[in-house]
Amino acid sequence: MITTTQKNALSLLFVLLLQPTFAFAAPDPVPEADGLLAHCGTLIDGRSDTPRGEAWVSIENGRFSRIDQTAPTDPASPVLDLSDLTCLPGLIEMHTHILEGPEELTDLTAYYDFSLEDNLEAGHRYALATLRSGITTARNLGTYYGWAGRELREEIERGDAPGPRLLVAGYYLTIPGGGGDLLAPGVDEADIPPHLRLGVSRTPTEFAHNAQRAVDGGADVLKVIASGAVLAYGGEPGAPEMSPAEIRAVVEVAHAAGLKVAAHAHGARSIIEAIEAGADTIEHATYIDDEGIRLAIEHGVGLSMDVGAGDWMIEQGRLMGWPDEFMRKTIETTQVQRDNFRRAHEAGVDIVFGTDAGIYPHGMAGMQFAFMVEYGMTPMEAIQAATSVAARQLGWADRVGAIEPGLYGDMVAVAGDPLTDISVMEKVSVVVKGGRLVKGPGN
Ligand SMILES: [Zn+2]
Repeated sequence: MITTTQKNALSLLFVLLLQPTFAFAAPDPVPEADGLLAHCGTLIDGRSDTPRGEAWVSIENGRFSRIDQTAPTDPASPVLDLSDLTCLPGLIEMHTHILEGPEELTDLTAYYDFSLEDNLEAGHRYALATLRSGITTARNLGTYYGWAGRELREEIERGDAPGPRLLVAGYYLTIPGGGGDLLAPGVDEADIPPHLRLGVSRTPTEFAHNAQRAVDGGADVLKVIASGAVLAYGGEPGAPEMSPAEIRAVVEVAHAAGLKVAAHAHGARSIIEAIEAGADTIEHATYIDDEGIRLAIEHGVGLSMDVGAGDWMIEQGRLMGWPDEFMRKTIETTQVQRDNFRRAHEAGVDIVFGTDAGIYPHGMAGMQFAFMVEYGMTPMEAIQAATSVAARQLGWADRVGAIEPGLYGDMVAVAGDPLTDISVMEKVSVVVKGGRLVKGPGN
């Protein structure tokens, strides 16, 4: 039996011990580490351009161990019968806000009063909904409450809460009043709780300092708000907010620590500046022009374009009473982003599956696949955007994104053929994470 004081001292020691390693390597835990043998009617492995047909997928100690075309004669694990389903790798969501929901967009100042416990309580519900929708890995690109995402990540890693494997940004690196700041009309900056503004920075030096603090605190990725945002007071999506020198200051800190930088950039100029400064993925990329497309290809930068959410936002945002400014910016950016998704894809840019979940309810991300296909991807390309291509852009190609020996045993199954009807991805029947069934046929 240990006392609370001893426990606190121990966890502090634990945190201190882990800091240096966390700064250089993303966590590599397999909390759900079990085994099973799945009999799949059809297998889409995430990497091959054609499905493999019937397959028996073995998972041992949380990782795929073998894939056979015939039933193993002496299976070591119980057989999960998915013979009337299509199996795919667990899906990767490159852009979520897993502790936040659309209700708060009616009045962002609600965050001023939320405690860490409030945030985590919401996070638990959203993480479960996300996992059950088939997303087994998610990149949490910012929370208003600094470090709330890290707490949730650690709970999931310990097995204390169900959810996807999380990579977290810690907090938004943003200018005062920028897209990641919670400054609202009529509010004095000094009245906003400091835990909501850990990444608000004014100069390249300050950005570098706050980026380093994020790295030291255990961020897996850094998030910069390069241009204006849609769902924020003030700022226009097409206009730059951070300067090239400020973006570069963050990139230098992140890359020195082996972390990637996700740059929120709607505007054509901010997209170019962020790529030239070394950002690894461009989030939204709404107004990307030919030069931005050329640079993205040249630098191997991935675009995470949330082309699925607009219709829901326009319809439901109005019903929920979102501010007029948010509605106007949503309407202005929805169609142009979809058209530019088509252009960027046709040109050959890496496009990943990133939906900005949180601006619409968690658990619905699968709806974006149909939009990715409507705007030019083949169904297989849309699936790979959420599996092998996303894994490569995460730097986790050796862990997730494909069904092949050695990778985490993360797998989903859907009824029907997603290659002829991509909308089946909205209704994932089975979810396996690390070899453990987290959603099964019938539950
Ligand atoms: Zn976002």
